[in-house]
Amino acid sequence: MLWKPLLRLLSGHGTQPRLQVFIFHRIPNRADELLPGEPCAKQFDWMVSFISRNYKVMTFGEATSRLRSGTLPPASACITFDDGYLDNATVAYPILKKYGAPATFFIATSFTGGGRMWNDNIIETVRHIGTDTLDLERFGLGTHPTGTTAERKQTIQNILQSLKYRPHAERQITAAEIARSSGLSDHPNLMMSRQDIRMLAEGGMEIGAHTHTHPILLSLPDEEAEYEIVHGKAELEALLDQPVVSFAYPNGNTRTDMRQVHLRMIEKAGFQAAATTDWGVATANTDPYLIPRFTPWDRTPNRFALRCALSLTKPQAVPVLAP
Ligand SMILES: [Zn+2]
Repeated sequence: MLWKPLLRLLSGHGTQPRLQVFIFHRIPNRADELLPGEPCAKQFDWMVSFISRNYKVMTFGEATSRLRSGTLPPASACITFDDGYLDNATVAYPILKKYGAPATFFIATSFTGGGRMWNDNIIETVRHIGTDTLDLERFGLGTHPTGTTAERKQTIQNILQSLKYRPHAERQITAAEIARSSGLSDHPNLMMSRQDIRMLAEGGMEIGAHTHTHPILLSLPDEEAEYEIVHGKAELEALLDQPVVSFAYPNGNTRTDMRQVHLRMIEKAGFQAAATTDWGVATANTDPYLIPRFTPWDRTPNRFALRCALSLTKPQAVPVLAP
């Protein structure tokens, strides 16, 4: 099937060009049974092959600026990555280069020196545990089965859910303490280093900001939220010696994770556009600081393509944020 004419038709009709922004986090070299939502290298390869053949691929910064100025070509798309995982540089980057596809990497700067995000402390603890149960009673988190892969997956989901909306500092400290008490090393090499990030930028990739320590902005007092936004940007600009104009909200759900005041902070800090994790495609009417994203979860090329096409036909809900 020829998808290109269909995608061009659906994404460029009338005066309302639509921008499809794909979102990724980790790209493991081989399928990782504890990360069923993440495409492995082989799957990512055919995804980028499909995207680069059927869309005009641009960085997030370029696409959102062209969306705003009314010069976005039909069937435009961005490929974006959140957080700054090391496999973005070692696995995804060579595939992007192979297909000549630029991408945007949103980096949480506090992890570039060998740190690990709170959710990964939990995932890696469960991955490396040598017993059939994980006892987290002393953290008020119960005891969880870890004997089989299915149990490990469920245990990860349950613990992440219990911790997700705890206060930011408490969540970081508790997850780090769980990892430490399970004997996990402090430097797992899970995230990109500053040199990795510079290599991506020198290779034509866009580097965007994702705060410093990856808090849910809504969970912080305003001054701390602003510090996170400004500090993350400044650190990347000092590293790359160039302006950083794109931002992605940590967690990024417009219903639960942010308020209007955060949009204004981002604008004031000098960002030109920001990405959420709401599902959808952007039009000229979309607030540039609330650009939705969408990646089909299908693991066969035709189903992936079909869901891309369908996503372009859906009416876009306008998020309503608290002031
Ligand atoms: Zn993130």
